[in-house]
Amino acid sequence: MAKRDYYEILGVQRDATDEEIKKAYRRLAMEYHPDRNPGDKTAEEKFKEVSEAYEVLKDPEKRRRYDAYGHEGVKGGFGDFAGFEFDLADALRTFMSEGFGFADIFGMGRGRSRAGRKPRGSDLQIRLSLTLEEIATGVTKKLKIKRLVRCATCNGSGLKKGSKPVTCPQCNGTGEIRSVSRSIFGQFINVSTCSYCRGEGQIIKDFCEACGGEGRVQGESTLTVEIPAGVSSGNYITLRGEGDVGPNGGPPGDVLVFIEEKEHEYFERHGDDILFDLYLSFPQAALGTTVEIPTLNGKAELEISPGTQSGKILRMRGKGIPHLRGHGRGDQLVRIHVWTPTKLNKQEKELLKQLLKSENLTPPKNEKGFFKKIREVFQ
Ligand SMILES: [Zn+2]
Ligand SMILES: [Zn+2]
Repeated sequence: MAKRDYYEILGVQRDATDEEIKKAYRRLAMEYHPDRNPGDKTAEEKFKEVSEAYEVLKDPEKRRRYDAYGHEGVKGGFGDFAGFEFDLADALRTFMSEGFGFADIFGMGRGRSRAGRKPRGSDLQIRLSLTLEEIATGVTKKLKIKRLVRCATCNGSGLKKGSKPVTCPQCNGTGEIRSVSRSIFGQFINVSTCSYCRGEGQIIKDFCEACGGEGRVQGESTLTVEIPAGVSSGNYITLRGEGDVGPNGGPPGDVLVFIEEKEHEYFERHGDDILFDLYLSFPQAALGTTVEIPTLNGKAELEISPGTQSGKILRMRGKGIPHLRGHGRGDQLVRIHVWTPTKLNKQEKELLKQLLKSENLTPPKNEKGFFKKIREVFQ
């Protein structure tokens, strides 16, 4: 398949500055990021395409080769990337290496790391399963997570003990690359951030052996997270600054704790109401009774009035899930099912046969209004 022109993909002019290229990439990568377009293959292709274009155009040497020789000029020239086929993992790596995190995709906003600042660490996502009881009361959980922590040997600098950073040979320590461009309006000097030292003006020559110069190592942390009452599946809680630390002392990302609801043995959740199915024998439903049923905070007694129909829903006010926003809580709904026996002994059969003749036990013949009324109860 013929590849499209990288400038065209990013929608920039051929003489675009590094900043313009970065800006264009950032906007497009956000738009087509798979997390924002779940299951959308076209978006995924676009995401890979813009990432590949950016990977070439952000690098002065690759860009020069591309300008001179086109796609052939950068074939196999992706350095860290396995082959020429730029796959989704490569694209995501590009995205992450720019210091963009999860928070950016969903526009949660934060002071973004500008050029010259150290890139921020990645955001980490964790799934947390909760029972309905925990959701009903709110709960404090301790979570053990694996994350990148600051290297203790070099204190995050990435430098070998006793060594010092040296002046960046690309920009001679200024952190900026100046280039001159001419147009009909005259001559412009473009100033862009040095990509070699990320604008810091210095680079590391002797790496810390513990972290290989990254300034961070694999570690573990225990986090405490407070879950408010009333959350539901898909809600998440952000723990600011608890994610991976950035390379070379860069600021940390966040941890996003995604809530999942465990299936409950008895209850079905409907918004903040919970539904419980109660099975009664025919004599219980006909004569009325008091039954013990489970609720989210222990057992409760429920009175069944004589003549309760199957399908009737009884409402136990305030026995549901607390509203996450605002006061009050949902209800527990108890749906009545009159149980029909499937196995009968001789004596039971005799008793039921006698009841067959009983006038009051025979359902009315579709009396207008009667079944309608029952149906209304079911709603
Ligand atoms: Zn180190
Ligand atoms: Zn530099």
